[in-house]
Amino acid sequence: MKNDVVASDDSALLNAWIRAADVAMKNDVVASDDESELVMISALEHYSYCPRQCALIHVEQTFDENIYTLKGQMSHERVDQATTRNEDDKRVERGLPLWSRRLGLTGRADVVEFHENVPYPVEYKLGKRREWAYEAIQLCAQALCLEEMLGQTVPQGAIYYCSSRVRREVTFDTHLRATVEQVTEQVRTQLKNCLIPPAVNDSRCNKCSLVESCLPSIVAKPERWQSYHSQLFTLEGVSDGAIEEG
Ligand code: SF4
Repeated sequence: MKNDVVASDDSALLNAWIRAADVAMKNDVVASDDESELVMISALEHYSYCPRQCALIHVEQTFDENIYTLKGQMSHERVDQATTRNEDDKRVERGLPLWSRRLGLTGRADVVEFHENVPYPVEYKLGKRREWAYEAIQLCAQALCLEEMLGQTVPQGAIYYCSSRVRREVTFDTHLRATVEQVTEQVRTQLKNCLIPPAVNDSRCNKCSLVESCLPSIVAKPERWQSYHSQLFTLEGVSDGAIEEG
C-alpha cells in the first residue's frame, strides 16, 4: 500500500498515543514541570550554530525574515501538519510532538518513519547536503525524546536536504548523545540568566537570518560600537558640550 492514510489497529493505537502526547505537551509536562526550564529542541541547533543567535531568538524574541527563512518555511510547510500515513510500506508521522522530561526538552519532529517499528526521525533542511554538526545535534535530541516517550532505542535518523533531495544518515553514538545533553544544559543556563554572548563575526554571519539585527561587525568591535554610540548622542551645532550661538 502506498501513500494511503493508515487505517489499521496499529494506527489507531498510534493516533491515541499522539493525542496523549499533545495533551501531555499542553497540560501535563508544562503544568507539572517548570515551564521556564524547558528548552526548545530548535534552540539546541541555534546555540550550536552561534550562541548569540540562540540568545537573540529565545531571549530577545528577535526574528528577521530573509530569503533563507522564507525558503525554510516553505520546505517545512508539508511536514508541519500532523499526519499519519503509510508510505512505501513504512508508517510515517509528520509534525509529531516531542518531549523529554529527563532533559527538559520539547519540540516537534518534521517526520518520524517507523522502520520495522523502530522510530527513525528525519529533519528537513534547506540547501544541499553538508556535514554540519549542529544539525546532527538537533536530530539526536529528537531521538532522545522519542526513546523516552516510546521506551525504544532510536539508533539512527537522517537529515533530508531539499535542494539536492538527498539524505544524510546520522548515527546517534555516545559522543553525540553526550553533546546533546551538554548543549541542553548550556542553553538552559543561557535562557535562565538571559545571557547575550558577543558576536562571532565570522563566516557564519553571512547566512544568518539575524545579521541585520545583530550587526556583528559593529558589536564585535567595542571601539566601533562606542564610536557609533557617541555619535548617536552628538547634536549638530554642539561642540565640546557648548551650544554654538547663532
Ligand atoms: S549575525 Fe553572526 S554573530 Fe550575529 S547571531 Fe548571526 S551568526 Fe551570530
